[in-house]
Amino acid sequence: MENKAVVLLSGGMDSSTLLYYAKTQHDEIHALSFDYGQRHRKELNAAKAIAKSLNVSIKILQLPVEIFKHGGPLVDPTIDVPKQEEDKQALTVVPFRNSFFLLFAAAYARQIDAKYVYIGACGDDQRSYPDCRPHFFEAFQQMINAQDEDIIIKYPFVYKSKKEIVQLGTELGVPWELTWTCYRGEEVACGECDACVERLLAFKEANLNDPLPYRKKPW
Ligand SMILES: [Zn+2]
Repeated sequence: MENKAVVLLSGGMDSSTLLYYAKTQHDEIHALSFDYGQRHRKELNAAKAIAKSLNVSIKILQLPVEIFKHGGPLVDPTIDVPKQEEDKQALTVVPFRNSFFLLFAAAYARQIDAKYVYIGACGDDQRSYPDCRPHFFEAFQQMINAQDEDIIIKYPFVYKSKKEIVQLGTELGVPWELTWTCYRGEEVACGECDACVERLLAFKEANLNDPLPYRKKPW
């Protein structure tokens, strides 16, 4: 049990790096992804590909779509995804999303006798997303402890920048071409949404090449 972990995997840059990182820390890893009615399937396909690249089992849980469907452009296809320069990252908040993810992951960890639950929230996310802040994870851990003192939530990237995550992921051999970050689920990544621009900026700052094709690059 000590060496078994559940890793929340969305198929993006942070959680893919997290999976590769957790693999260096534990003997047995189980990836967990969620279908919560997100705008596109691309990220779930990316999650499956990343798990497969490490030979890690992956479970995709269906969450009740009704709970999230008014959560903004990431779940509501009638709202257009804002371009990065519109600075509307707050619009891409899906309320309570990480609470659901962590609670299901903790219950799953209990069921398969795993001690750790990993979530890939990173330092750059704290600005816009309340459920990516250390304070949130500390409170969540307390809530878990009130029910089960054996499960530990790990959020090792909470003080890391996207640039540092790209550096770490590259060191760990993350196959970036299999990951998906874009908020839109088009054939190729748009290069214009907040997620694309942040990703491209992280690669640029780290002086590394992002192998994903983009419809339009911001620079
Ligand atoms: Zn995009």
